[in-house]
Amino acid sequence: MAESVFMADLTWPEFEAKTKANAPFFLPVGATEQHGPHLPLGVDVILPTGVCERVAKKVGGVVAPTIPYGYKSQPRTGGGQAFPGTTSLNAHTLSMVVRDIVHDLALHGVRRLAVVNGHFENSWPVVEGVDLGMREIRRDGIADFVVLRLEYWDFVRRETLDRLFPEGFPGTELEHASLLETSLTLLLRPELVDMRKVPSDGPAKFPTYDRTPVKPGFVPASGVLARAQGSSAEKGQWLMNDHVEGIVRAVRAEFGLLESEAGHGYDNRARAV
Ligand code: ZN
Ligand code: MN
Repeated sequence: MAESVFMADLTWPEFEAKTKANAPFFLPVGATEQHGPHLPLGVDVILPTGVCERVAKKVGGVVAPTIPYGYKSQPRTGGGQAFPGTTSLNAHTLSMVVRDIVHDLALHGVRRLAVVNGHFENSWPVVEGVDLGMREIRRDGIADFVVLRLEYWDFVRRETLDRLFPEGFPGTELEHASLLETSLTLLLRPELVDMRKVPSDGPAKFPTYDRTPVKPGFVPASGVLARAQGSSAEKGQWLMNDHVEGIVRAVRAEFGLLESEAGHGYDNRARAV
């Protein structure tokens, strides 16, 4: 049986062996949110999970089950809560979920954890959850637990963005359900993408403020905020390469992993910073 990087596929003795070897753990945090008429509601789950799977394979890591719900979709970054199917948590609830998972992983011996966010609106509630989890861990007397928290899309190189957007990158916020997410989903789950349904009612033109309630027509009716035309699995692969290389580099640097450690156990707790 091929060894899985997914925690949910391990038995408890296998999990324990991973923690004893001080394997780095990954916690993807997603959302269940509209992504236009051409992409599934689970894009923000599929993408960070796929990134973590690839990174974990390179560093001998373990991927904890992805949190499938996220903080409320905002009109200017995800289309907002009004789209059918967008199902979200209060910020407090998400923070509590993150806190509890971080705490229990550390309690069971995880000492190096990367929390990998896949949904823009999750950022601060996840920061809060990690902070509350860390406080509990310290009260438990565990002093050598290190957590990285990151957004996978921040690991795209400038050159790749220039290749993808010869007319200029519109910005991560507007990229919702657009070229980046569509290309990555074409790479990971092509059977879930219907390129014939890519809309052309964008790009959104938002003011520099929020308004509640949202006026009709504020968000493009399709829920796609920029352009998805021209998306391809090949472009998704360029992005994935950047995400994986960049996050592997960060994890190795912060967790003190050597390249030779990829794929097998290590006993270097003392080198963790
Ligand atoms: Zn998304
Ligand atoms: Mn999202």
